[in-house]
Amino acid sequence: MKRRSKASIGPAKARRRKAQKPKDRNTPTVRRRGSAGAGLQTELGQLRRELHDAQEQQTATADVLKVISRSTFDLEVVLKALIESAARLCHADKGSFRLATGEFFHHAASYGYSAEQDQYMDAHPVPAEGDRGSIVGRVLDEGRVVQVEDTKADPEFKLTNVPGFESIHTTLGVPLLREGRPIGVLVLMRSRVERFSEKQVELVTTFADQAVIAIENARLLSELRESLRQQTATAEVLKVISRSTFNLQTVLDTLVESVARLCEADIAAIHREKELGYQQVATYGYSQKLKEYVSGNIPLAPVRGSVVGRTVLEGKTVHVSDVLADPEYTLLEFARQAGIRTALGIPLLREEKPIGVIFLARCIVRPFTDREVELATTFADQAVIAIENVRLFDEVQARTRDLSESLEQQIATADVLKVISRSTFDLQAVLNTLVESAARLCEADSAAIHRPKGEAYRYVASYGYSREYDEYMGASPIIPGRGSVLWRAVLEGRAVQVADVLADPNYALIDAQRIGGFRTTLGVPLMREGVPIGVIMLTRNIVRPFSDKQVELVTTFADQAVIAIENVRLFDEIQDKSRELEIASQHKSQFVANMSHELRTPLAAMLGYAELMQEGIYEPLGEKSLAALTRIRSNGKHLLGLINTVLDIAKIESGQFTLNMQEYSIETVVETVRVATESLAQHKKLALRAAVTKPLPIGIGDEQRLTQVLLNLVGNAIKFTDTGEVRVTAEAVDGRFAISVVDTGPGIPEQERTRIFEQFHQVDDSNTKTKGGTGLGLAIAKQIVEMHGGRIWVDSTVGKGSTFQLELPIRAEKMIA
Ligand code: ADP
Repeated sequence: MKRRSKASIGPAKARRRKAQKPKDRNTPTVRRRGSAGAGLQTELGQLRRELHDAQEQQTATADVLKVISRSTFDLEVVLKALIESAARLCHADKGSFRLATGEFFHHAASYGYSAEQDQYMDAHPVPAEGDRGSIVGRVLDEGRVVQVEDTKADPEFKLTNVPGFESIHTTLGVPLLREGRPIGVLVLMRSRVERFSEKQVELVTTFADQAVIAIENARLLSELRESLRQQTATAEVLKVISRSTFNLQTVLDTLVESVARLCEADIAAIHREKELGYQQVATYGYSQKLKEYVSGNIPLAPVRGSVVGRTVLEGKTVHVSDVLADPEYTLLEFARQAGIRTALGIPLLREEKPIGVIFLARCIVRPFTDREVELATTFADQAVIAIENVRLFDEVQARTRDLSESLEQQIATADVLKVISRSTFDLQAVLNTLVESAARLCEADSAAIHRPKGEAYRYVASYGYSREYDEYMGASPIIPGRGSVLWRAVLEGRAVQVADVLADPNYALIDAQRIGGFRTTLGVPLMREGVPIGVIMLTRNIVRPFSDKQVELVTTFADQAVIAIENVRLFDEIQDKSRELEIASQHKSQFVANMSHELRTPLAAMLGYAELMQEGIYEPLGEKSLAALTRIRSNGKHLLGLINTVLDIAKIESGQFTLNMQEYSIETVVETVRVATESLAQHKKLALRAAVTKPLPIGIGDEQRLTQVLLNLVGNAIKFTDTGEVRVTAEAVDGRFAISVVDTGPGIPEQERTRIFEQFHQVDDSNTKTKGGTGLGLAIAKQIVEMHGGRIWVDSTVGKGSTFQLELPIRAEKMIA
């Protein structure tokens, strides 16, 4: 195995300097050169050789150090330099390193090997135990330096059979020890029989130490790099997650890819709990075919036969080093298609319950390291956080959406209600508003309200349809049957929706659909007391069903339509009724007017005869008879007055009250009234005064009616006043007559001052009640005054008296009653 790794030089340099010191000490000095004699000669030669060797060693060591310092981060280069120097310095023909990987020691750097020999060695790793047939195996077996003087002479030795190694004789193996345990072996070989000297062994041991340091450095460095790589990757994943917090798919895709890369998995997937089981929601390294296979066959149930299922069951990490060798594993077809062997399942735990699994797998049997499992767990945590965030975010959003939707609906409903209340009696405007609002709010392209007419339903309001469609529908009532969404809603008495009318085999409004072009159709009946009185239809030109919320909203609108239709119906009913009432009341007034008139004629005759009798035209009468006739006449007059009053009111009500306009003198009117009421006042011991400011112009008006008004005012004043006086004044001011009747009676409370001019109204006071009357006099007076274009009102102080005032145009035009 040729592994490229890098190592640091720091500690190696120090170690080596230390290792070289003894050799420095042994280095011969120049002082020895001057020695003579044979012994000396031999010694000199020996020293020269040693010097040469030492120099060579120094140079070689310096070279190695240089290489090491230059290629600190390339373990292979360092090892190559080390083995070459060791071989050269120790006069070996070949040399190599074997390094431990798992259970085997693999061929690493070599010196003096042909390409074929390297290849052979690469293909034949040495087991850690039980191989005494090789120098490496023997070093490992004995745990120390081993020298075989002649491998040819060693019966256990097998290397001599290997092609290219026939000529190897003396072999040296030095263990690379880290904390007492062999992590490799340095081997030197000679093509001759010549033992490596102690010095050489010592030198090789130093080189082996250097190699250990370099390997260690490389290991640390690669670990450092690995963790740096993981950290960078994790940071990047976190960045993606934080950037796309609310795009869960992106987060999961990023997570699954990163975790697969960092943990050197060939395929990876995130499974989440769905209705059907633990379905994969993000994958890495799955071929299209595999994806199809999985989606067709695997939502994974929590069973022990799958790694994902087992992870869910156990609620903790499941690591299967070879699914094919696992007796419980049953997803063999999946394993075959994916080509996986080692598999890892990490649960996504929320509140200790698995909501999903991260699944990682390799296509060879190579278990995940603790570090990888730990890393994958971190990613699982991130996935849980991301899922949780999105869930919370979605929840918040849904709630916000709900709120804003219902707010929007409320506003819309309020708007519609406003329109309805403003145009209570314009049903068409209300229905138009309703269809438009319903269509807008429910994102419908068009909407219409249909109402029953005879057997069929007719189009009464629409929004958003083409003129062609409106015309078509106007002329084509929808006849009963399940062929229309409208009738389905009517028959079922509830909202009916068809997602796509074109896909509905029973749908029969083919022409309407062709002209209208709609697809999704909603019909909501307008229900009054459980009976449909119309239907509101909403349509979309694409297939997109209305949501429950929208259906609910349309139902609200349907209710509004029912109310509006109902209001208008009631209003029309009331109007009809009041028209009927008005006619009936006119008939009654007419009847009363006719009747009073009919009563008056015989009464007048009776009074006339009574007067003739009193005057003794027929025969002289006794005292008692005369007194009775006086009674008859006074009661008869009273009755005539009452009949006249009723007749006036009836005439006013039936619109037959008219004025007889003539020139008149207001002075005469006042005088007539004074004379007529004088005896009444005397009877009550009241002073009655009349004051007229002269000159007074001649007026135009109905003298008789004006006399009636003033008579009523003075009559009331006398009637309600018990002590004091009644005063009548008249003057002409600014083209008007101003007439007032002042009394010292009980007065009229403020709140009654306008109401006494209404028909039948009397101040609810025992005093006034006992004085009798009909409550009609002032109403008639007001009518007469206003028909003259004048006005009448009262000023009063309760307990002190009242002042009734009249203002009349001197020359009155006839006003309409
Ligand atoms: P009647 O006098 O027949 O009841 P009127 O229409 O003439 O009907 O008057 C209505 C009411 O106004 C009276 O019943 C009385 O309560 C009140 N009223 C009218 N004139 C006077 C007044 N001069 N002083 C006090 N109350 C009065």
